[in-house]
Amino acid sequence: MRVLLVEDDVTLQRGLAHVLTDAGHRAIVVGNGVYADTLLATEPFDLVVLDLGLPQMDGIMVLENLRKRRQTLPVLILSARDRTQDRVRGLDSGADDYMTKPFELSEFEARVRALLRRGQGASLRIGLLEWFWDRREAAIDARTISLSRHEVSVLEALVQNPGRIIAKDTLAHQLGVDGEVAGSNLVEVYIHRLRRKLAEARVEIRTVRGLGYRLQEIRED
Ligand code: CA
Repeated sequence: MRVLLVEDDVTLQRGLAHVLTDAGHRAIVVGNGVYADTLLATEPFDLVVLDLGLPQMDGIMVLENLRKRRQTLPVLILSARDRTQDRVRGLDSGADDYMTKPFELSEFEARVRALLRRGQGASLRIGLLEWFWDRREAAIDARTISLSRHEVSVLEALVQNPGRIIAKDTLAHQLGVDGEVAGSNLVEVYIHRLRRKLAEARVEIRTVRGLGYRLQEIRED
């Protein structure tokens, strides 16, 4: 998913961009309100993470402009302004969620996941595989398949970006494994298991050598 990250604090920018990239998203980072406003008017995004105190144009103004253009993509506000009236103003201006700084990166990651899910409908279908975002369950031809916790993590990262290459490191991070070799081996184990379980789903998890894996539909011509 393409996420526009609007934040002028360089340290926070880096941390948040890292979280987004690790979750398999593409983060486009900008540090001022005017540039964010221009990008939003001209390029497609799946989510905006928006700081309020920004140079050149306040985050609330960026948000109001977005909604004036009738763009419905989800917006997550990040702000040091923690008074109730600030939160109300943000939500009234069309934000979908509001986080007060400082916050835990794990909470940020969870909220991003929830917001992106909302835009995707209850489930996603690729071939005969159906993925249910809320339940984090997969079904083939309406039959739920049994997956371990780690298999769910890997499959979820792949279905979030169907047709796109997901780096092995990203998948290792989903498994919560540190260390290059251990992570890499474990990813291979779970990819192997998922391929077996998805054998009837008319999808394949293709290995893109040196880059990662890609989930795609098997088309029968
Ligand atoms: Ca700021």
